[in-house]
Amino acid sequence: MNDNLQVMKFGGTSLGDAECIRRAADIVARATRDGLVVAVVSAMGGVTNRLIQAAHASALGDLDAVSGLTAKLRQEHQAAIENLVSNADQRVQLAAELDQIVEEVTSLCRGTALLRELTPRTLDAISSAGERFSARLLASALRESGFNAEAVEATEVIVTDNHSGRAEPMIPETRERATARLAPLLAKRSIPVVTGFIGATVDGRLTTLGRGGSDYSATILGAALDANEIIIWTDVDGVLTVDPKLVPEARTLREISYNEAAELAYFGAKILHPKTLRPVSEAGIPVWIRNSFSPERSGTKITATGHPTRRGVKAITAMTNVTLITVGGRGIVGLPGVAAKTFTAAANAGTNVLLISQSSSGNDICFIVDSGDSARTIAELRAAFALDLAHKEVEHITVNPDIAIVAVVGDRMRGTPGIAGRTFSALGHRGINIIAIAQGSSEYNLSLVIEARLMRDVVQALHSEFGLERRASRFESVESERALAGVY
Ligand code: ADP
Ligand code: ASP
Ligand code: MG
Repeated sequence: MNDNLQVMKFGGTSLGDAECIRRAADIVARATRDGLVVAVVSAMGGVTNRLIQAAHASALGDLDAVSGLTAKLRQEHQAAIENLVSNADQRVQLAAELDQIVEEVTSLCRGTALLRELTPRTLDAISSAGERFSARLLASALRESGFNAEAVEATEVIVTDNHSGRAEPMIPETRERATARLAPLLAKRSIPVVTGFIGATVDGRLTTLGRGGSDYSATILGAALDANEIIIWTDVDGVLTVDPKLVPEARTLREISYNEAAELAYFGAKILHPKTLRPVSEAGIPVWIRNSFSPERSGTKITATGHPTRRGVKAITAMTNVTLITVGGRGIVGLPGVAAKTFTAAANAGTNVLLISQSSSGNDICFIVDSGDSARTIAELRAAFALDLAHKEVEHITVNPDIAIVAVVGDRMRGTPGIAGRTFSALGHRGINIIAIAQGSSEYNLSLVIEARLMRDVVQALHSEFGLERRASRFESVESERALAGVY
């Protein structure tokens, strides 16, 4: 749509308090010197968790807990208003909007408590309140610095299907509405500050895109507005070789491909919502991940090709809160349709299957789901296999929630021999048992299922096995080693 348009998303930590919000406003303000900016915001750090807690407390009828949580929300946003806004009229206006949103949340919680039932639709309405506050706060901070800025509700610009809690965007409709709502603001040099995480159905019912969904909001809007680039401002220097909370020696990757970023996000790297790259990869819009606390650092660029590296492996990721489900028994050898029945049952339960593995003897099929989906999936499986279980053709359907997936990721793993061997021997030397393995034919990743309690050890072992830590090899200088690996 525009010459030199940047979509900039700020995560929860980057909007943690008034000082962070001011820093975010400075980043946006600086970027407007070079072109147009649309800002997308998450809720202030911790706010969405508290809103979800309030929603669940109200389903249990615990309105005392709800008032404690809403009082805290009001207080932290009020503190931010007082810190950020000097103009008295603006303060009064913002405080009134804050009151109104808190009031809406309170009524939704009261209704939920009355019925003792939290519907997905109500949960969406309650959990999205944080973005509605933070968009107003960032817009005010920008106005405070003398810029034109307007908070925009994403319900007006992002059109989705009606899947509460995991809505999918409808791109043509979003393109139309986003252009109609945002182009006039940009034309008059006003900076739109759009609520992340939120969308609405064609007929205007609020939906959310899933936890961490503001990243996805940014790329949906970037694609819809034909942005030149998208910048995701967060609390680390970019995409690192592994989560620095697990391995402090993790290094920042200079450039990675859409595929690599998508694999990392899919297998648990919290840095990006798993669907973030979908809207932009076809159009080839670059996505940057940068540190809002160190804006002078250039961060990681995500592009179609990524940085070519000689090494096969670029990064390691881990996913917990997942459950392994196994359908097994001697009888299933050669029993036609078992796989189809298994995955139809999972689909009927509305479950997203994260990883599949089948033993070569055909004695069991195992797959991994989000732990939150496990009970529903098991119930569907037991119903689908009721007869087979009764006739002992299927002997067991078992569940193991104490597992984690660790994935080794890199575009150039394809055709690099020995990666699986190195992975297995690195773990074998440490006496670590691998429960299941999966490798897609794309060869961008090799995924291992291990006991959850070993997750940190496995991640550290593999990070060091593939030389991803901050250490020069014996044969190459630090610079050439890092250049080859595409890290800083
Ligand atoms: P935001 O609030 O900005 O959306 P998140 O907490 O959702 O931030 O994501 C940033 C966090 O992702 C980092 O603090 C880091 O711990 C975690 N993370 C996990 N894997 C990686 C990785 N490979 N590179 C960088 N950060 C990662
Ligand atoms: N605030 C939402 C969450 O906590 C969305 C996001 O942070 O991206 O999940
Ligand atoms: Mg996030």
